[in-house]
Amino acid sequence: MNEMTAKRNRLLAQKVLKGLQSRNMSGYYAETKEEALKQALDLIPTGSVIAMGGATSAWEVGLVEAIKQGDYRFIDRDHTDDKRAAMLAAYDADWFLSGANAITEDGVLVNIDGNANRVSAIAQGPKHVLFVVGMNKVCPDADTAMKRARNVAAPVNAQRFGLNTPCAKTGSCMDCKSPDTICCQFLTTRYSKHPGRIHVILVNEELGF
Ligand code: SF4
Repeated sequence: MNEMTAKRNRLLAQKVLKGLQSRNMSGYYAETKEEALKQALDLIPTGSVIAMGGATSAWEVGLVEAIKQGDYRFIDRDHTDDKRAAMLAAYDADWFLSGANAITEDGVLVNIDGNANRVSAIAQGPKHVLFVVGMNKVCPDADTAMKRARNVAAPVNAQRFGLNTPCAKTGSCMDCKSPDTICCQFLTTRYSKHPGRIHVILVNEELGF
């Protein structure tokens, strides 16, 4: 990232943080992946039960690996014989890690899900939800955020999971009803009823997709 973009992001992040605060959500700014990792580990007490949904950005800053190796109880849904049990256990976790498909400049989070384990856990269940979000996910408004989720995040996800969807072939959303579609549930998180539940670390790096 060039310095002019980094500078623009620093300024824009202040607007996003204010938006999050106005929506009863806690926002933090990290200049680098390393700062984001430190911020996340400062937030999550050792001994916590931690689950996660799709969260490429959390992987990219090293958070998932740090949790796996640290003094936490990690619910690892990717390495279990009973995935359903792991997904249900996630609703009672102390912390749930998530990425965001997009976030608006005024702090609204947008997420799309196929199985809905991620969006349902964001909506309710885990005591805390932690989003790690690169500044590349920030969109001017709700309409562009949804367009980003449908036309950038979803096609990349469809491609990386080898799904048979139109977007995996064309790179943009065709509003499909394919059996493989990952656009089953859309969650717009515009306010948190519960102070201290939703935390968002904005990172001045390109993370996820
Ligand atoms: S609706 Fe279908 S084509 Fe559009 S992004 Fe979702 S999976 Fe892809």
